[in-house]
Amino acid sequence: MDSKLIQRLIEAVVDRIVAAEAELTALDQAIGDGDHGINMKRGTGAVRAAAAELAAKPAGEAVKDAGMQLVMKVGGASGPLYGTLLMTLGKLWPDPLERAGLATAVASALEAVKARGKSEPGQKTMLDVLFPVSEALAAGKSPAAIKAVAAEAAEATVPMQAVRGRASFLGERSAGHMDPGARSSQLAVEAVCDVLEAAQ
Ligand code: ADP
Ligand code: MG
Repeated sequence: MDSKLIQRLIEAVVDRIVAAEAELTALDQAIGDGDHGINMKRGTGAVRAAAAELAAKPAGEAVKDAGMQLVMKVGGASGPLYGTLLMTLGKLWPDPLERAGLATAVASALEAVKARGKSEPGQKTMLDVLFPVSEALAAGKSPAAIKAVAAEAAEATVPMQAVRGRASFLGERSAGHMDPGARSSQLAVEAVCDVLEAAQ
């Protein structure tokens, strides 16, 4: 994977997340503590600041190091979880890059997130977007189809009752709002798919 593509992927994800800061804040104000926008901005900003350095490394190492930045720079629950996702993904990154190997690496990275968060899909978290995306990737879906899967999956968290994370403290009152982490996952997936579509 060439370093320009890595840099474009980093920039696209960061731009999308930063542009959505207010929306992520509002979602987290509704069912959490209102810091998801700032957490994601801080974490992705650290990755962006290191983008040139990361892009000079082999892709797997760059992904792993980006994950370490998230763990170090994000205080909330989402930092260690997204960090675990990227660190595991980076360790298992297929070289040369091919879909089946990537799908296996993503699936294993999600198992690591589940273990770290003691969580499962269906509990109104980022996993409710990341799991269907992982399945769509394994099924050979196009970037456009994967974006549609992510959007539908984020929307599907609205009626759910949270079982993990701060939103679970609200019990039934957590229903009726999209999960902030599901939304940030959707935005990141969308940004990655947009870059891959443009590179095709
Ligand atoms: P905090 O909850 O510490 O304030 P953030 O607001 O940055 O951290 O992130 C909240 C998001 O993290 C939630 O919307 C949810 O998607 C995700 N999350 C929280 N706890 C878990 C967990 N145990 N497993 C998976 N995802 C989780
Ligand atoms: Mg929060």
